[in-house]
Amino acid sequence: MDKVQFHLDRLLFEREWKIPDLMKRSGVNKNTLYAIKKNEISRVDLKVLQNICDALSCTLAELMSYEPKGEGEQKGLLFILSGPSGAGKNTLINSLRDNYDLGLTFIPSFATRPMRPGESNGNPYYFVTRDEFHAMAERGEFLEYETIHGNYYGTHLMTYERALDEGNIIIKDIDVNGALNMKREFGDRVVLIYVRPTSLDELEGRLHGRGDADDDIRIRLDRLKYEESLSEHFDFLIFNDDVPTATAELAQIIRTCTRRRA
Ligand code: ADP
Ligand code: 5GP
Repeated sequence: MDKVQFHLDRLLFEREWKIPDLMKRSGVNKNTLYAIKKNEISRVDLKVLQNICDALSCTLAELMSYEPKGEGEQKGLLFILSGPSGAGKNTLINSLRDNYDLGLTFIPSFATRPMRPGESNGNPYYFVTRDEFHAMAERGEFLEYETIHGNYYGTHLMTYERALDEGNIIIKDIDVNGALNMKREFGDRVVLIYVRPTSLDELEGRLHGRGDADDDIRIRLDRLKYEESLSEHFDFLIFNDDVPTATAELAQIIRTCTRRRA
């Protein structure tokens, strides 16, 4: 989180409060508050930040700002949503598109998995055969690609480079490995957001509700521990209990990170 700057020190100073005052009013524990005050926090839980903002009567944008380096080179920003299958990443992206006007760009990946009901070519993927996918990979057309749940998924290098060069704000769900690879590739241009469901039972229920086959559900749940183990590398954490609330949190993150560019 080295590019996120917290302004808690100043907000406390203006109110003539100390950390224990804020601790009592927000219910957030002392160590977390000190870490935020000193800008030494490694990952942010949006609920915690919201409690702090409520106690201070300030907005998230007043509490924190995002200041990527190299503004002159690649001007765009890429928001990546990762987390277990069924956590609601696509639901949140769709809800954001339908309910907020943030000028976001969505770039479909290439995938070899079968289309689900309601999907079409280009939404949410360009669906290709394994042979077509391998040929593209050999030609070096992918920025990164992964085998996930037995299928291939890849992000198209040139499309991302061009979109970022042109200053677009991109949002995309990518698995945890791909997300960390994108961060390595594009550095500060990438904001990593980890989406979590309320519980394992809830997650399983959602996968059944989406119509996934039992075997597919088992494969998706088997990957959960691995995904969770990498969640500490993410910049933000969103609990998707309720779609409108989680969408609002996502919109807040995007607004805060893009505010300086307006
Ligand atoms: P992901 O993209 O993370 O794999 P989806 O967006 O496809 O997950 O969501 C999985 C299923 O869970 C979908 O059927 C979706 O409608 C449902 N869902 C998503 N978010 C919620 C939520 N907050 N509460 C209840 N159901 C949800
Ligand atoms: P699903 O089949 O449920 O749509 O997606 C399975 C997983 O693939 C999800 O975790 C999704 O985020 C991930 N994914 C989608 N596109 C890409 C991509 O281009 N690269 C990588 N690494 N993962 C992707």
